Amino acid sequence: MYIYNLLYNRYGDLGWWPAETPFEVAVGAILTQNTSWNNVELSIQNLKKKIDLNPEELLRLDIDELKLLIKPSGFYNQKAERLKIFSKFVSVEYSGDIKYLDRFKTSDARNILLSLKGIGKETADSILLYACEHPIFVIDKYTMRMFNRVGVGWPEKYDIFQKNIMKLLPHDLNIYRHYHALIVENSKNYCRSKPICEGCPIAKICKKTILNK
Ligand code: SF4
Repeated sequence: MYIYNLLYNRYGDLGWWPAETPFEVAVGAILTQNTSWNNVELSIQNLKKKIDLNPEELLRLDIDELKLLIKPSGFYNQKAERLKIFSKFVSVEYSGDIKYLDRFKTSDARNILLSLKGIGKETADSILLYACEHPIFVIDKYTMRMFNRVGVGWPEKYDIFQKNIMKLLPHDLNIYRHYHALIVENSKNYCRSKPICEGCPIAKICKKTILNK
C-alpha cells in the first residue's frame, strides 16, 4: 500500500473509468486495445453522436458505419467485429444488461468474457473491475514497467503480476480501481519508456530511479 499511498497523495481520485454507463466502459475497454485513450475518446464521441450507446443500438448499426465511427481507435475492422460480438452476447444472454455479470463468481465471469472473440485478459479484467463490481486488478504494460523499475523483479507475465499485486493489497474494489488509474497517470507523467524520475512521487523508494545513479 506504500506505493499506492504515495501515488494517491499526489494525484487523488482520478475518477477512472470515465464513462456514463457500464456498457460504455466495456466499449472503451475494447477500443483501447493497442491505442491511446485520446483516440478512444474520439471514437466514443462519434458513436454517441450517432446512437444511444447500448448493445441493441450498436448491433443495429451498419458494420461499415461502425468501422468509420471507431476509425480513430485504429484496427477498426477487428474492433468493429469485436464490438458486434460483445453487443450480441450482452443483448442475447443478459437482455442488454452487462451488470448481469455481477451475479457470477469473479473467476466464472472472467471465463465467460475470455470465451468471447477478441476479449483478452486486460480487457476482461477492465470490464469486470470498472463496468461491474468485481474486485480484480487490471495489469497492463505500464504496471509491469513501473513495478519492475521500482524493483519487484517479477517476470512480465500477466497472471504472475496480477497474483503478486493482489496478494500485497486488501481485496478492495475501490483500491483496485484507483490504483490502476494512478499507475497509468504516473506512467504518462513520469514513468515513460524513457523515465523522467525527477518529481516522480515514488522516486524515493524506486530502485531504478535515475536520481540514484
Ligand atoms: S522514479 Fe523513475 S523509474 Fe521509478 S517509477 Fe518514477 S519515473 Fe519510473
